[in-house]
Amino acid sequence: MRDEYSLESVKEIFTKFLVDKKHRKTPERYAILERVYTHDGHFSAELLYKAMQSDYRVSLATIYNTLELLLECKLVVKHQFGDQIAQYEKTFGTVKHNHLVCTSCGKIKEFSDKKIRTLIQNKRFAQFDVSYYSLYLYGTCKKCKIESEKNKNK
Ligand SMILES: [Zn+2]
Ligand SMILES: [Zn+2]
Repeated sequence: MRDEYSLESVKEIFTKFLVDKKHRKTPERYAILERVYTHDGHFSAELLYKAMQSDYRVSLATIYNTLELLLECKLVVKHQFGDQIAQYEKTFGTVKHNHLVCTSCGKIKEFSDKKIRTLIQNKRFAQFDVSYYSLYLYGTCKKCKIESEKNKNK
């Protein structure tokens, strides 16, 4: 189940936001938005920076600055998995999903669960509108579990 969206509608949201907040509509910002929206899954600012080197050269500072703007207009969400560097993710066109975070190696696995989704979608809060959600389940991945058991037997 993916949200219906087009790159055009995402750009429109961004344009409206930039105009409303009196930010400049620079081609760099739109290039970053486009790159973010063609990327599936999580990414860090550094990864986005590296990915953009080949097609549209922007500075890392511009990436950070634009990601802040995209966060503000809710076109991306920021994840902080444990003590890792921040990971970003687009909000439209992403299957509503949750995250399994390994506290040993930091690996992230996504999962979606229809029951959880329905439960949250049907949940009504007084004086609060839910726009999106994400659950984080922390634990140990299979690889790390095997590793730690090997070490125990040494
Ligand atoms: Zn995710
Ligand atoms: Zn692990």
